[in-house]
Amino acid sequence: MKKTYSKNLFKHALEIIPGGVNSPVRAWKAVGGTPLFIERGKGAVIYDADGNSFIDYVCSWGPLILGHAHPKVIAATEKALHNGTSFGAPTEAGLKLCELLVKQIPSIEKVRLVNSGTEAVMSAIRLARGYTGKNKIIKFEGSYHGHWDPLLVSAGSGLATFSVSSSAGVPHDVIKDTLIAPYNDIEAVKKLFARYGTDIACIIVEPVAGNMGVVLPEKDFLSSLRSITEKYGSLLVFDEVITGFRLGAGGAQALYRIKPDLTCLGKIIGGGMPVGAYGGKAKIMDKVSPVGDVYQAGTLSGNPVSCACGIATIKEILKEGFYRRLDSKAEKLCKELKNIASKNKIKIVINRAGSMFTVFFTHHDEVKNFTDAQSSDTALYARYFNLMLCEGVYIPPSQFEANFISSLHSDAQIRKTLDAAEKSFTKLSKI
Ligand code: PMP
Repeated sequence: MKKTYSKNLFKHALEIIPGGVNSPVRAWKAVGGTPLFIERGKGAVIYDADGNSFIDYVCSWGPLILGHAHPKVIAATEKALHNGTSFGAPTEAGLKLCELLVKQIPSIEKVRLVNSGTEAVMSAIRLARGYTGKNKIIKFEGSYHGHWDPLLVSAGSGLATFSVSSSAGVPHDVIKDTLIAPYNDIEAVKKLFARYGTDIACIIVEPVAGNMGVVLPEKDFLSSLRSITEKYGSLLVFDEVITGFRLGAGGAQALYRIKPDLTCLGKIIGGGMPVGAYGGKAKIMDKVSPVGDVYQAGTLSGNPVSCACGIATIKEILKEGFYRRLDSKAEKLCKELKNIASKNKIKIVINRAGSMFTVFFTHHDEVKNFTDAQSSDTALYARYFNLMLCEGVYIPPSQFEANFISSLHSDAQIRKTLDAAEKSFTKLSKI
């Protein structure tokens, strides 16, 4: 693998960008080595600045469900681009994207477009607080909801304790209303409600967690969150920034048949361009300015180029059989990976939801919360990452992330990935 040009770019980047990257996990701190500069992508393959190619299982962290540079997405985006990039005024493209979201996501009656998942989440939480007149929020250990101060809270320990921020620069006062419970632990949630119930504005949850690696909700977890929030007059907020249009055209909420009060979206709805959205019941959304008194705004929100990219992406995935074909690729890949690992006597747990999955290098029998996820051997994962990279396969540069498959991952590319895994696991077994 040639690396010179990419390495030089990174060296220069280190001089002028903190850590050389515009988002921390791109720096490969968890797996070592010099991050690749990516020059282009086509289908399931990315090409670095030295011309090396890799089968991509990061897919820009989820948005690229149709793979890179899908012809229809590019054509629609290019067409929009020629008419101007942003007007700061209503556009038909903005309306059409909203229409698609209202039609597809079961709980969304009204929706507002923003520019990122972080923005969607911070707006939804402000709205939940404004609507209920309550202050506290519950989030789950190991979940990530973007880099907004009140949600940048580490796992913490103890159920009813106020948490400690995982970032400097976040004043204690800002996170004092953030309560933490372990994922899949409804008893912990009940205890928080018993103690603080009158002042809990909402629970925010990834209905399928993607940010401690993929962790599925246990039976009744989501429905219990629905009933407890109803009981106390709090809102249930689903963060479907990853799962929206990933687990099906109605997101995780359609799959699990739970209607949250508010839903946050991002990633796929922009098809690789910056878009986020939050939406829900009309009576709650009408609390947003200019109708209501919860303020939220954005210069580039609903810009026609991002919206055209998102609309073209969603149109493709609404075609008959899309998710069946996509998920079966992931199913096959995960089944074979498991066989390869066990043949080489390496204990792994694979959690998969549709076309997103994580291979945990853990001795635990299952991974159902952040503590289980943290039992993983991250050094072994780092070796696996580097071995796969040498074989031309790009997986997430951290154990605690999801792999994503696109509709353009071909059978031949999946076979090639499995051959790479075969070689990598054989080497790992000899360490
Ligand atoms: N929520 C979830 C579940 C996410 O995974 C992410 C980002 N990975 C965000 C929110 C924040 O989105 P963004 O990076 O677009 O701000």
